[in-house]
Amino acid sequence: MWIELDTDADVGSVKGDLQRLGLWTQSVLSEAGRPLGFWVLEHSAHVDSDAVRAVEGVARVGVGDSLHPRVDAQGGRACVVAGVTLGANAPILLAGPCSIESEAQIFRAAEMVREAGGRFLRGGAFKPRTSPYAFHGHGIPALRWLRDAADRHDLGVVTEVLGEADVEPVAEVADILQVGARNMQNFALLAQVGAVGKPVLLKRGMAASVQEWLLAAEHLLAAGSGHVVFCERGIRGFDTVTRNVLDLASVALMRHVHQQVVIVDPSHAVGRRDLVVPMCAAALAAGADGLLVEVHPNATVARSDGPQALGRDLLADVASVVGKYAAAGRPAQATGTRS
Ligand code: PEP
Ligand code: MN
Repeated sequence: MWIELDTDADVGSVKGDLQRLGLWTQSVLSEAGRPLGFWVLEHSAHVDSDAVRAVEGVARVGVGDSLHPRVDAQGGRACVVAGVTLGANAPILLAGPCSIESEAQIFRAAEMVREAGGRFLRGGAFKPRTSPYAFHGHGIPALRWLRDAADRHDLGVVTEVLGEADVEPVAEVADILQVGARNMQNFALLAQVGAVGKPVLLKRGMAASVQEWLLAAEHLLAAGSGHVVFCERGIRGFDTVTRNVLDLASVALMRHVHQQVVIVDPSHAVGRRDLVVPMCAAALAAGADGLLVEVHPNATVARSDGPQALGRDLLADVASVVGKYAAAGRPAQATGTRS
């Protein structure tokens, strides 16, 4: 059961009244620390929802059979992080190299991202690679370079947590922790990442249904994550002309039906730089709240995902697509989803 508070409720007194009814609760706060409401814990007494509704200070009581009540509760709410609002009117650009290859490379990338109006610098210090012989990232030293480069250009940081041992060092530098496609259903990792309490960018697994994606987010929120931002990065198809299939219908569903903050990563979806800009436009038209794109100051020497990395010119094209949507405001809710 979800209990939403009136904005001027006396939180202590509501909690006390609920306890007298036999309800044990866990508080939910807004990003600004304002109490929003309570989750009723499992071992509580069974109480009629009308009795809960009658408690002074209670605005709304939710008793549904949704499998992801915490995801539902964050629906319609923006994610405010590092002074940036994801899920407001204007789309946000998050960009950076696939891997952090050197201090110089990430500083040059950060400059490119800032020049394009990006708000977050992305880059992998811990890289999931299909081959055990490929470059797996520089690890902890790269996290420091990433933070310093982002700070130099007033950018937030998003970077991937690959394993449980990385949670602590990544949480120290990242504003948003990324859980990659390959780890979307690594439930032990989700519990640890969620417990950090920071926002998480949850990539959709390459063969994951939307329901599985929502439930993975529920794991993160149940463990304490501040907000889960969904990231569609393409799912496996039969054709190899593009790396994956960019499932924009799911983006529209997440945004218009589930009211979630959703980001699109066209880079991993198409795997080739010539298709990234049109897919950025398509993603924003579908309702995405932002774009996560890979860039490189010199893609010909990139140690991972070079073919999809954008240089300055294509990144400027992405920036102009973002600018168009920022000026026009986010697309109206799709008519079919209006009740
Ligand atoms: C990445 O963002 O660099 C990455 C590895 O992405 P994905 O998990 O979507 O493959
Ligand atoms: Mn990559």
